[in-house]
Amino acid sequence: MTDRVDMLSVAEAQRAILTRIQPCGVEPAILLESLGCVLAEDVLAQDDLPPFYNSGMDGYAVRADDVQGAGRDSPVALSVVADIAAGHPSDVTIGPGQAARIMTGAPVPTGADAVVPVEATDGGGALSAQVAIFHKAQRGEHVRPAGNDVRRGDRVLGAGAVIRPAEIALLAALGLRQVRVIRRPRVAILATGDELVEPGEQLLPGQIRNANGWGTAALVLRYGGRPIQLGIARDTTDDLRAKLARGLAANADLFVVSAGVSVGAYDLVKDVVTSEGELSFWRVRMRPGKPLAFGQYHGVLFFGLPGNPVSAMLTFEQFVRPAIIRMSGRANWQKPVLEVELAEAVTSDGRETYARAWVRREGHRYVARLSGEQASNVLSALVAANALVIIPDGQTRVEAGARVSAQMLDWPEDVF
Ligand code: AMP
Ligand code: MG
Repeated sequence: MTDRVDMLSVAEAQRAILTRIQPCGVEPAILLESLGCVLAEDVLAQDDLPPFYNSGMDGYAVRADDVQGAGRDSPVALSVVADIAAGHPSDVTIGPGQAARIMTGAPVPTGADAVVPVEATDGGGALSAQVAIFHKAQRGEHVRPAGNDVRRGDRVLGAGAVIRPAEIALLAALGLRQVRVIRRPRVAILATGDELVEPGEQLLPGQIRNANGWGTAALVLRYGGRPIQLGIARDTTDDLRAKLARGLAANADLFVVSAGVSVGAYDLVKDVVTSEGELSFWRVRMRPGKPLAFGQYHGVLFFGLPGNPVSAMLTFEQFVRPAIIRMSGRANWQKPVLEVELAEAVTSDGRETYARAWVRREGHRYVARLSGEQASNVLSALVAANALVIIPDGQTRVEAGARVSAQMLDWPEDVF
């Protein structure tokens, strides 16, 4: 049981968190659900891709030797002995002087070794017995040999790869319906406060709606975790315990609790968590953001975020996001940072400041403008932002025209 207050930079706090993080275990995932997950096994191709010799164009399958003299002014006439559509292999053999009409993806018949696109023939209309070829096709032109993409036995994906839509397409093409991935972390989310009601409920005097429970659940989803929404706990130790117990019962890997972690008379999270776990309060030199609570409850990692919605969202971005990404087995957790030019002066109190801003490209530069009121409860300025301009620790004012770093909120960590 600890209860110390440490002064940390953002980077120090991130490092301290990441030393406590282990990747989750491995589980099978059906293909579409593996999107965004980290592959836990090498994938070897069970088949050639494509599986057979096929046409790359709609046109005529020919013997290249037959059309060596062909040109616009010297068409070569061939007799059409077959019409081959995709999915309909033909057992015809193309002999000298013969051709087959063929569609993209259809198996190239024996004897043919090139495809002449329909545009280079007179055979664009109804199928006829003869076709005039206007193009001197080379052997292998517009045909795709079996295995020209992937060869049977190739290691097509390695353990550790992040599964994107392209990987899903390749896995499907190779016939896989399921892969082994690092399990998504289960993140239990709890909002605390007597003043909170859920969206859809009637708002009585003195009440506000629970923004954090939903905003942080959305961040969990965005960064690849599975949110477990525990709803709202009232400011009583009994209710806090009861709601946290539901997270334990759901096998949460991580708790994200908002509000109730400062020094107000009803900030009870500390008492509850330290009684059955441990909690450190870090004064991170970051704006926005009050003390960040980090520890464990019954052995489950625990983050206590500030109550003000912008602070909750931004401290999540800096501290919970890296934890979720690392638990998911991904290596890159840093948000991509651009060097931007400030369109206006930005002030700070000397803590590392994450100013809500809109970054856009103007010619060859990226220019940042503040997106509105910077107070820690003003969600509309976060909605109007696509970036966080970072005013470094120790600086109280950065002038218009200065170059600073901007963390791009909607760019994936892979860009880093
Ligand atoms: P606290 O940390 O409990 O002192 O809360 C700080 C501020 O955040 C107060 O104005 C709370 O009403 C507000 N707040 C706390 N939880 C939420 C929430 N889930 N959604 C929106 N605002 C909240
Ligand atoms: Mg409160």
